Amino acid sequence: MQNQLIKKMVIVGGGTAGWMTAALMGKLLMGKIQIELVESDEIGIIGVGEATIPAIKIYNQLLGLNEVEMMKATQATFKLGIEFVDWRDKNTTYIHGFGKVGTDLLWMRTYQFWSKLKDTANLKDLDNYSIGVVAARMNKFAMPNGQDLNSPMADFDYAYQFDAALFGQYLRKIAQNYGVKRTEGKITKVNVNSENGFIETLDLENGNSVSGELFVDCSGARGLLISQTLGAEFDSYSKWLLCDSAYAIGCTSAQELTPYTRSTAHESGWQWRIPLQHRIGNGHVFSSNYMNNENALDILLKNLDGEALNEPKLVKFTPGKRKEVFKKNCVAIGLSSGFLEPLESTSIHLIQTAILRLLSLFPSDRFSQVDIDEYNRQTEAEYEFVRDFIIAHYKITNRTDSEFWKYCKNMEIPQSLNDRIELFKSSGRFFQTNNELFKEESWVQVLLGQGLKINPDPMTNLIPDEDLVSFLKNVEDVILENAKFFIPHVDFIKDYCKSGV
Ligand SMILES: Cc1cc2nc3c(=O)[nH]c(=O)nc-3n(C[C@H](O)[C@H](O)[C@H](O)COP(=O)(O)OP(=O)(O)OC[C@H]3O[C@@H](n4cnc5c(N)ncnc54)[C@H](O)[C@@H]3O)c2cc1C
Repeated sequence: MQNQLIKKMVIVGGGTAGWMTAALMGKLLMGKIQIELVESDEIGIIGVGEATIPAIKIYNQLLGLNEVEMMKATQATFKLGIEFVDWRDKNTTYIHGFGKVGTDLLWMRTYQFWSKLKDTANLKDLDNYSIGVVAARMNKFAMPNGQDLNSPMADFDYAYQFDAALFGQYLRKIAQNYGVKRTEGKITKVNVNSENGFIETLDLENGNSVSGELFVDCSGARGLLISQTLGAEFDSYSKWLLCDSAYAIGCTSAQELTPYTRSTAHESGWQWRIPLQHRIGNGHVFSSNYMNNENALDILLKNLDGEALNEPKLVKFTPGKRKEVFKKNCVAIGLSSGFLEPLESTSIHLIQTAILRLLSLFPSDRFSQVDIDEYNRQTEAEYEFVRDFIIAHYKITNRTDSEFWKYCKNMEIPQSLNDRIELFKSSGRFFQTNNELFKEESWVQVLLGQGLKINPDPMTNLIPDEDLVSFLKNVEDVILENAKFFIPHVDFIKDYCKSGV
């Protein structure tokens, strides 16, 4: 018997996850299967999540989005990386930029030479060896030029900072244009087949009912289908990622429009600053075990650029993931599948990869368990890669000025992360696996930026130190020379994608 395509997919939830899923599935599958999205205006969406990473451009391309139109519709700005302030120690800063660090010599990397000689040759910070980071520090932006592989203009990448609620509305229009049916209503009961445990129908408060074959749970952290109905267990990462709360608030902008997100470490957590065209998004992410709500809010309000634009919103979360994100005939995408705190802006990306994974392992009408197991295995590996990267920011620090930071500095970390750090420390060598989201460049910028001390790769001795110093000086100069091609971020936005007010 041949596998047959399922006939109907029901998406539960109209947040970023729901509409991202609906838009892309709508484009690729409409006419072949029916798609219906159920959302409740009364419940609403979480309404935070404004910073992205460069891979979002793959989603946009698959959907055929026009960048200018999308940026105008979402009040978007460009993002060249994330600045980490006070993370290594108080009064320190580094940027995790999207792109290459320097250029290679033989098979070795610029950062390997830099770490060998930075003290003896009095070198500048590693930030000066990435063109995107140098431009970010100047508040400038340009489009990368991937054609000219010999130029540093090919060596950086960018993402967006946008209004998440507007992004959802934008995608909703696209999805509906492809024929996705939107049903407004609060789901009050989820009915499962008493024999096989598969979800069959959703009862709505207004008395209607929605049936389907595949159910995509985008209902947010509550996991209405995957957890509350099917009982998928949660694997918590709280012993490594202590933050479980955030206050979010928008404010007016008082500074130049920065082409990067800022993360400033505080006593028991950190604060984000995400500049959009019409406002700045801010939030204080903190651990409720180490700080109460009142103090956390006070710190946030004292550290805004301009006037607050709305009431602060408190969000509670648990870092971790469902052990099974695909169970029976239900796949969880978005917060219903899990959440890693927003430090590296990875949640929207995890939504994107979940959609692509679902397409590549799309269930037949028989819902093969081996497909489901593979889906879960891939999701788990992806989460653990990202989890380790985020934990590294907390673990590698010189800060011991609060109980929170003391815990982070001394905590036991997953073996997978420990092995990587030890290898890098012992020989300045870093290896990534093929499917990992964060590549070597990201890891080394963060590990070195956080203050990890490494022994140089012995192979760097193949080249005399004075040659390495002039190589590094040349990299720095070429980057500075090319930074002239960038223009002020604010002007770029004005000419390219200025939103109407
Ligand atoms: C503090 C914080 C900061 C973040 N910052 C970032 C960031 O910078 N970058 C990033 O990539 N991600 C970020 N995220 C994550 C990001 O917010 C989410 O990944 C994204 O918003 C997706 O949310 P969602 O669609 O899964 O859930 P939600 O937005 O919560 O949507 C849930 C949907 O389900 C519907 N629903 C629920 N129950 C029912 C019911 N009974 N009946 C009908 N409908 C129902 C709701 O109405 C809603 O439409 C952040 C998250 C937090 C907590």
